[in-house]
Amino acid sequence: MDKNIRICIVGGGPAGLSAGMYLEQKGYENYTILERLDRVGGKCWSPIMGVPSYYAVEDVEKFCGITHDGPKLNRNYKDANGNVIEPFARTLGNIIRNPWLLKMKKQLKTFGELLETKYKGYDLNGHRGVAEGRYDGYAVTPGRERVQGENPNLKDLALPFSEFCKKNGCELVQKIWIGPFTSFGYGYFDEIPAAYVLKYLDFQTCMNFVKVNLWTWKEGTQYIWEQLNAHLKNPARLNSKIEKVERRDGKVFVTVNGEVEEYDKIIVTAPRRAWSSTSTPATMRRRSSPRSTTSATTCSPSRPSPRITPRSPTMSSTTWCPRSSAI
Ligand SMILES: Cc1cc2nc3c(=O)[nH]c(=O)nc-3n(C[C@H](O)[C@H](O)[C@H](O)COP(=O)(O)OP(=O)(O)OC[C@H]3O[C@@H](n4cnc5c(N)ncnc54)[C@H](O)[C@@H]3O)c2cc1C
Repeated sequence: MDKNIRICIVGGGPAGLSAGMYLEQKGYENYTILERLDRVGGKCWSPIMGVPSYYAVEDVEKFCGITHDGPKLNRNYKDANGNVIEPFARTLGNIIRNPWLLKMKKQLKTFGELLETKYKGYDLNGHRGVAEGRYDGYAVTPGRERVQGENPNLKDLALPFSEFCKKNGCELVQKIWIGPFTSFGYGYFDEIPAAYVLKYLDFQTCMNFVKVNLWTWKEGTQYIWEQLNAHLKNPARLNSKIEKVERRDGKVFVTVNGEVEEYDKIIVTAPRRAWSSTSTPATMRRRSSPRSTTSATTCSPSRPSPRITPRSPTMSSTTWCPRSSAI
């Protein structure tokens, strides 16, 4: 693909900024990140944490030459009366008081082994093909190489997490996953498919939570994204609100603060409903195939035709990316 294609990235949150970083690393430098707010970072704007298995964050830290410099986190477990308790089979006293803890420890070990063997490929970044019993994505090893293969067992991941654990004789591990999953507000194990639970909390990530092996940043998680933005060749254009996207003649026309800009490709990392704001009520309507070079996505009612600002002379085909996917 022509390395000079004009790429519009909607949103200066983690996904939009990382898209800029990865494009730049692959030699695509003609990208424009449009952020509607007066700051970058999106929802990642808090003093919370990351874990060592968040590889994209590691990539960003390397790119910027920064590190996780925040305080080490600690954690206590308490019973219903507020007394501090030890929920793991680490002390003899605790095991004597709660004999089932040893069973949980054994099941946890089995669960980790099963995920690596019977469910090989469950944790690939990308997670494509799981429902059909295949895996296709990027390995969660430092090389992050592309890995593909067949594994019919992966179809089990469509089961609710509680059933998946039961099927594998590891029901007690739910007591561990429940902390950073259900308590964080991500849903209930009898409703959420195992594929989703294990996508967010693969074995390694869950163990990092258990061991409180977490990263923090003195200035909050937003620090990573502010740093990334500062290190990009094309930092995000702030206060640039996308109001409309139209595909015509193999190009993408993006209305930003009332002005139309022309691009060859678009990467969308903001919810499309964000374009249905009061300033431009918009009902997105796709006219033809999402991958067709002649397709168009329109918003209606449309505004009077504003001025068109060509971004660069390069012209190529367009591809509609409904979420923060590849161009
Ligand atoms: C309470 C809470 C706690 C969290 N805790 C953690 C945590 O501890 N660790 C962690 O790693 N993750 C955490 N997350 C998750 C993390 O914040 C999100 O995964 C991340 O922000 C998603 O990034 P994104 O770029 O996809 O979307 P967003 O962060 O939503 O970024 C989208 C960007 O697009 C912009 N935008 C929207 N509409 C338009 C438009 N029309 N034109 C131009 N720009 C537009 C928005 O302003 C925004 O900047 C937490 C999330 C929440 C809500």
